[in-house]
Amino acid sequence: MIRVVRGPTPKGLKSAAPRRLRKAIESFNKSGAPSAPLNATFVGYGSTATKQVLYSAQHGKCAWCERRTDFSSAPVEHYRPKGGASRHPRNNRPSVVDPAHYWWLAWDWTNLLFACARCNDAAHKANYFPLLPGSATVPAPTAPLPVDGASLPSSNSEQAALLDPAGAVNPLDHLEWAPVDSTQAMRDWTWQVVGRTPRGSATIATRSSGSWRRTCEITQRPDCCRASKK
Ligand SMILES: [Zn+2]
Repeated sequence: MIRVVRGPTPKGLKSAAPRRLRKAIESFNKSGAPSAPLNATFVGYGSTATKQVLYSAQHGKCAWCERRTDFSSAPVEHYRPKGGASRHPRNNRPSVVDPAHYWWLAWDWTNLLFACARCNDAAHKANYFPLLPGSATVPAPTAPLPVDGASLPSSNSEQAALLDPAGAVNPLDHLEWAPVDSTQAMRDWTWQVVGRTPRGSATIATRSSGSWRRTCEITQRPDCCRASKK
């Protein structure tokens, strides 16, 4: 995972987001969250134009695993999930789910990323969005909400465990690459991502095990300059 700089909100999203959010609020006021009518409003955040901006900003790579990803088959992904947030550690029970989070961020530019289908699937990030121990949880909104969205909650008070590739902190302050077996000759090393901090470890656990690609953020080549040469 490397840092992503999204740039300004794409024009199409900027003009469509208030209208789409208004529809979602109307559905929420009638049917609540989660609900099928609200889920049916989750369209339009991943237009080709919006995805193209993310794709370019991310150098054609998945925000999570950094694998080069086919534009047409990959989704626009939400950092904070739009259809309920799983808070428990992956594979740990009991499940702790906030089912009404974070539908109101479905069209928020700062919540969108380009990701590969694998990272977005149920075996990987899916709806996982754990918080750091002791973090406040933003309360889900309650109906009726004004349709202009003025009273929707801010997520600023939450301390997310999952690193945001486009967030305020550099993911590489929390993650590093280490050889799987440093007793081998260096030319034979393979690499694994490890957490340098609790957020780094939580991010690896949330995205689940599996392949992360180690890619230099400067040259865009794998196995370039970010190795922990121990
Ligand atoms: Zn991926």
